[in-house]
Amino acid sequence: NELADRVSAAIRDVPDFPKPGILFKDITPVLQDGDLFNTVIHYFCERYESLNITKVVGIESRGFIFASAIAHELSTGLVLIRKPGKLPYQTIGVDYSLEYGTDRVEMHVDAVQKNERIVIVDDLLATGGTMGAGIELCKKAGANVVEAGFLIQLDFLDGVKNLHGVPTHSLIHF
Ligand code: 5GP
Repeated sequence: NELADRVSAAIRDVPDFPKPGILFKDITPVLQDGDLFNTVIHYFCERYESLNITKVVGIESRGFIFASAIAHELSTGLVLIRKPGKLPYQTIGVDYSLEYGTDRVEMHVDAVQKNERIVIVDDLLATGGTMGAGIELCKKAGANVVEAGFLIQLDFLDGVKNLHGVPTHSLIHF
């Protein structure tokens, strides 16, 4: 796929970020290229436009960038899943475990209605901890999670196993 090749070529590997030993996939060059960013957003919109999606859900913080652009293009609502304590109104949340300790994701209680058809978007799937918790949160709100969409999927970490059987789509795989 030509778009996948263009995105792969644009992704920048940054060693030892945010910690020693981690090779970080930097997606900012994709955003900086106007034609590439536009083409990526249209690619996801074409996937989702005929699925009767009512909301696009983005995961803090790079997920917001893609979810926002897709929601705008599809004229759906946009929902924010955030780290604890960031959202101003009443929230529901899901805790999840990390290698060391736990983390939590939250969304506003009124962000998603029962039986809404939603897609959840993030930039990258690694272990699946973050997206798994995001999916759980949307299901807790009663949503029908149609797909989890990613720009990048790190296949060797097998994060899909933590996504509660929700269909997944990634533009590129490493
Ligand atoms: P997971 O919970 O699947 O282990 O990690 C995925 C989350 O961490 C995503 O929200 C993603 O933004 C972030 N993340 C982890 N590693 C990377 C990386 O190498 N590059 C980018 N862009 N995000 C990463």
